[in-house]
Amino acid sequence: MSNMDKAKLHEPYQVGDLVVYLADENLAYVIDYDCRYELTTTPDSCDCCTFLFRSRIDPKFQCRHIKALRSVLGLD
Ligand SMILES: [Zn+2]
Repeated sequence: MSNMDKAKLHEPYQVGDLVVYLADENLAYVIDYDCRYELTTTPDSCDCCTFLFRSRIDPKFQCRHIKALRSVLGLD
């Protein structure tokens, strides 16, 4: 993926109140500033409660973790 020229793996990127840590080009660990555990996020899925709930209604829903990852990857 050419957009990996910009984002490095295994480097923490701060996006607002979130830190995005790329495990590979399509998988990241995302942590909130006030959260005690990491979320596992891909460009179109996330294991946070907001995504699990909203994606049932809107399959295209992007939570803020997905949006943060997509911005690090240069997808949006
Ligand atoms: Zn999320």
